Amino acid sequence: MSIKTKLSAIIFGSVSLILALNLTLNLYTTRNNLRTESVNNMKMTARQIAVAVEQSSYSSNYVQQQIAQNLHLAAVLASQELDPDYRNVSNEQLRNLAAKLGVSNISLLVKTDDDIIVAKSSDPKELGLSTKGWGYWYVAFLELFAGQRVSVKQGQTLDHFWSGPFEYSTSNPKFIEKWGYYYDSSTNYIIDPYIRSTTISDYVKIMNPDEIVQQSKDVNPGLLEITGINPRTFGSPTMKADGTDPSNEKLRNRPVKYGTYIFGNPDEDKSAVITAQARQEPVTLDTEALGKRVLKTFIPIQQPWADDYVISVVMDYAVISTVIRDELINNITTSLLLLILFLILSYVLAGVVTRPIQDILAKVNDVAKGIFEPPLHVKNRDELGQLAHRVNAMTSHLLQHTNRLNQTLEENRAVKEHLESVINGTSDAIHTVDMEGRITSTNKAFEKLYGWSADDALKKTPYLVPATVQKQEEARLRELKEGAVLPPVETIRLKRDGSIIEVSVSTSIIRDEEGKPKAFVHVSRDMTERNRIEELLRRSEKLTTVGQLAAGVAHEIRNPLTTLRGFLQLQREKQLLIPLHVDLMLSELDRINMIVSEFLILAKPQAVHFQLRDVRHILQDVISLLSSQSHLFGIEFEAQYSEAPATVHCEENQLKQVFINILKNAIEAMPEGGTIKVAQDIDDSSAVIVISDEGVGIPEDMLPKLGEPFLTNKETGTGLGLMVSQRIIEAHKGSLEIKSEYQQGTEVTIKLPSAAGTEAV
Ligand code: ADP
Ligand code: MG
Repeated sequence: MSIKTKLSAIIFGSVSLILALNLTLNLYTTRNNLRTESVNNMKMTARQIAVAVEQSSYSSNYVQQQIAQNLHLAAVLASQELDPDYRNVSNEQLRNLAAKLGVSNISLLVKTDDDIIVAKSSDPKELGLSTKGWGYWYVAFLELFAGQRVSVKQGQTLDHFWSGPFEYSTSNPKFIEKWGYYYDSSTNYIIDPYIRSTTISDYVKIMNPDEIVQQSKDVNPGLLEITGINPRTFGSPTMKADGTDPSNEKLRNRPVKYGTYIFGNPDEDKSAVITAQARQEPVTLDTEALGKRVLKTFIPIQQPWADDYVISVVMDYAVISTVIRDELINNITTSLLLLILFLILSYVLAGVVTRPIQDILAKVNDVAKGIFEPPLHVKNRDELGQLAHRVNAMTSHLLQHTNRLNQTLEENRAVKEHLESVINGTSDAIHTVDMEGRITSTNKAFEKLYGWSADDALKKTPYLVPATVQKQEEARLRELKEGAVLPPVETIRLKRDGSIIEVSVSTSIIRDEEGKPKAFVHVSRDMTERNRIEELLRRSEKLTTVGQLAAGVAHEIRNPLTTLRGFLQLQREKQLLIPLHVDLMLSELDRINMIVSEFLILAKPQAVHFQLRDVRHILQDVISLLSSQSHLFGIEFEAQYSEAPATVHCEENQLKQVFINILKNAIEAMPEGGTIKVAQDIDDSSAVIVISDEGVGIPEDMLPKLGEPFLTNKETGTGLGLMVSQRIIEAHKGSLEIKSEYQQGTEVTIKLPSAAGTEAV
């Protein structure tokens, strides 16, 4: 879902929620308002009815006044005709008198101890009637008997007279009766004439609240029922469910004063009536009657001249429901229209709001594709503006980095190409081998040296190491893996055609970031040519030396030979053998012999036979051999040996030869005698022998030439001693160094690799 959709959904959702809330609230308020309105309506109707009833009462009051005056007149006349004592008056007499006076009936009320009863009457049904329970009527009677003016507000009061309000006839409810009561204390009874008339009934009917009620109902179809309730008798035990009460039938005490009582519920209504009366304010019930939902309002009515009562108005709830439903439909329609409007509006709004986001998104997409230009146009400084700003900054950084990266990449490529060209251009064969032994890369020289093309080498993994050096190679690779750095090794390898080549192989290991071995790099150099040249060189060197020697030998030998020839010629001429000459000749021959034998050592070294020997013993032998001779020249030996055996791997006779040569030179250098020091010691890996004399020393210009054949400054010297010694020491992998100071002495240091740890025999 896009932000635009989300945003419009949020706006739309909020608006829907607000509308729904509004709708609910509206409905609630409407219902409440309608209810209040209905109740008010009912109250008003009730008041109107009350007023109408009151007004009709006023009208009827006038009629009643007239009738009351007539009754008063009739009573005054009757009092003049009748005996003051009721006991002397007969019912018959009353009947006649009534007819004469034009009233319906005449009764006489007498005061007893605790009641006022009808003692005599023209109407037999009235006889013996108790009035004690008649309310204000009874009060009026008591006041009349007391000679007071009647204070009861109902009915009409004249001098010694009171007339009650209209009342339905007890005998026939169709008739209306009007009663008058007269007492002027001239009699012991109240004279009670009364008129019963249908005429009055008709008149009253016009003024009847029922009529008003009906009219009100006609005007207001929501009104189901209006009932005038007499709170004094309503809900009495004798009252029936329809509101009628056989015990209270009179107008003044009927439970239902007027109107109908169809929608009633006596128990519920009674308590409502009591509450309304007590509080003097309307009580509304939301209830059910006859299977209908109804609103019932009980309105207390106060009348200045008559008893208070309560009007109950029943209203059909359907009226409210209909209005609410209409209202609801209206509201929903409006809300829906508003919603649609908002949906469109919110979509448009969301579009406006999200456009910058979409711009940013498009930019980011571009950047993802590697398009950095142009930057976003920042319109405002809100959060989106800031975001756009940051995106621009990010993009420009990215651009810079990308450029730098490209540049580096270019440089790297150039370096790589250069390296590749160097690798390919180099005459050394280079190939890399992974840890599984597969060849992973080769250069051009590799193909030339081994005969394998790059493709074939990678595909076929050729065997380059011959079986004979396999072990050596494995050992080398193992050492490399363990971290050793190895010098190049001169070995042999197999070419593609199966032939063997001499190579110098330098191998190194490549490791990954974690230091794990990844590959071996082998650099092979073809040594065939070099070895051949070296061999050639060696041979030519040897030939040169031999040539030199031969020349030297020829030269050296020619001198004694010339001497020998001279002597022999002399002897042939003289035919005589001179012993001195023979000695000289022998010495010359000895010299020749010596030169030749020394030369032989050089030219053809005897079959060498290396053995383990202790240098100390060899030195000791040589010193004892030479000491007797040296004594003649006044020369002493001072020897010093190491405590530990100085075992070396050597050819004993050759070493002896070396020591003899050196010591002889030392003796020859000290014609005046002196001391020759022989110091022998062992250092880390070699036996060291230092032979020093106090002789004539070696001139400086001669030092570099020492070791050259026939270099001598002695009359009888051969100039081969040092040379032979050096060769022997070299053959023992040792070293020989000569230090000398002219006229001071000479020091010769010989080092021989020790064979420590192995016992000498
Ligand atoms: P030779 O003893 O026959 O002369 P060497 O090869 O033994 O030949 O010695 C070469 C020369 O080196 C000697 O002639 C001598 O001049 C010089 N030389 C060698 N050893 C000594 C030494 N201990 N003191 C002085 N000179 C020496
Ligand atoms: Mg010598």
